[in-house]
Amino acid sequence: MSPAMDEKIDPIYQSVIARNPGEKEFHQAVHEVLETLGPVLVKHPEFAHYKLIERICEPERQIIFRVPWVDTHGKVQINRGFRVEFNSALGPYKGGLRFHPSVYLGIVKFLGFEQIFKNALTGLPIGGGKGGSDFDPKGKTDGDIMRFCQSFMMELYRHIGEHTDVPAGDIGVGGREIGFMFGTYKRITNRWEAGVLTGKGLNWGGSLVRTEATGYGAAFFVDEMLKVRKDSFDGKTCVVSGSGNVAIYTIEKIHQLGGKVVACSDSGGYIYDKNGIDLELVQQIKEIERRRISAYAEERKSAKYVDGGNIWEIPCQVAMPSATQNEINGKDAAMLVKNGCIAIGEGANMPTTPEGVKVFQDAGIAYGPGKAANAGGVATSALEMQQNAIRDSWDFEYTENRLRIIMQNIHRDCYETAEEYGSPGNYVVGANIAGFIKVSRAMLAMGVV
Ligand code: NDP
Repeated sequence: MSPAMDEKIDPIYQSVIARNPGEKEFHQAVHEVLETLGPVLVKHPEFAHYKLIERICEPERQIIFRVPWVDTHGKVQINRGFRVEFNSALGPYKGGLRFHPSVYLGIVKFLGFEQIFKNALTGLPIGGGKGGSDFDPKGKTDGDIMRFCQSFMMELYRHIGEHTDVPAGDIGVGGREIGFMFGTYKRITNRWEAGVLTGKGLNWGGSLVRTEATGYGAAFFVDEMLKVRKDSFDGKTCVVSGSGNVAIYTIEKIHQLGGKVVACSDSGGYIYDKNGIDLELVQQIKEIERRRISAYAEERKSAKYVDGGNIWEIPCQVAMPSATQNEINGKDAAMLVKNGCIAIGEGANMPTTPEGVKVFQDAGIAYGPGKAANAGGVATSALEMQQNAIRDSWDFEYTENRLRIIMQNIHRDCYETAEEYGSPGNYVVGANIAGFIKVSRAMLAMGVV
């Protein structure tokens, strides 16, 4: 059961709504954290005295800028760019850039807010931030993408730096886009500053395992939740939404851990393959040819494509939403539980609506919220920064092992914190409180700044 909002905290939440009108995703993300913090103020009245919650809800800096560029047909295009530098108590702002037409300030702030707690949970020295643009990369030429990225960086460069703010990828931003942005940053600043962006190519400062990290980490987190229940992925039927970076490497790791993923999707619909998803084919279609997931069913007789279908109607024991926010609503959650789902691991950020979360928690199934389950991506970005700082590159096995240990530690931290604060098995409570306390202690030590 989700706890009710504490009476001291509710006015803070009301003030967040009043000060940030119309930003419904941001309100949702703040609500989800604040409703779990009541017991923290009982144990730590100093956090209330020094207004830690109010301060954490207010970004340190918000940057909005024009991104003009010229497309393949010679037409002038104008997009809007964002970078919200939310909290730097634990380290430089760190968080991805999202290029998607739905991006506006409320989305960037919800992601930046979640990022503060997620980054704290990794135990690594990184603050929280997020950015992006309402630019739609779908159907654009490589030239369009490059010119957009160059124009975006023409403004962003003055706000970032290896000790200041270190962006990475998110929806619509992968290795290609990071390359174009790094090239522009290098050209403007005349600095080969590896630590300014993460998710770089392997021969120019990138880290092994960064590409796989969010998906692998999410699967490791679910593995840990299953272990607590004396269970494992072995023989489990799984469904993973999306077919982008997070989804692809979630599928790969589930298969390595003995599970069988039977469905994945994109914004057009889902594919179901009773023989298990052929990951090489998905990678060929999505990563190399950049086509729609429907192409999978054209290549595989055992598969069907359901145009506009709801992937959560497929019976599974483990579901890993890995596409976007609010993709599982209360009805979807009820359908998953009814069909025998015992574990949810969120690869995406805030993919389950509050109604959906309540269904999972009431059913008592293992539910790993995004800010804990998908923290492996940013954790490995921090490992990339470490390698950049010492001008070294670590091998795959070593780096993956560090990722696995980080995910085990995050799981344990969330699990133990939930017990300590009277909500055993509630990873939402555990993740929010553990992350909040780490950031608050640092802010307290630094005075009112
Ligand atoms: P990608 O752009 O690589 O893939 C996104 C996938 O989700 C695509 O299959 C896309 O389909 C689908 N999708 C995106 N928007 C929607 C939508 N509105 N409705 C339905 N499907 C949609 O992004 P990532 O894999 O990097 O990111 C996926 C999620 O994981 C996001 O929530 C992101 O914030 C989160 N995340 C990512 C991390 C990373 O390291 N990349 C780290 C932590 C979290 P289509 O191509 O049709 O749009």
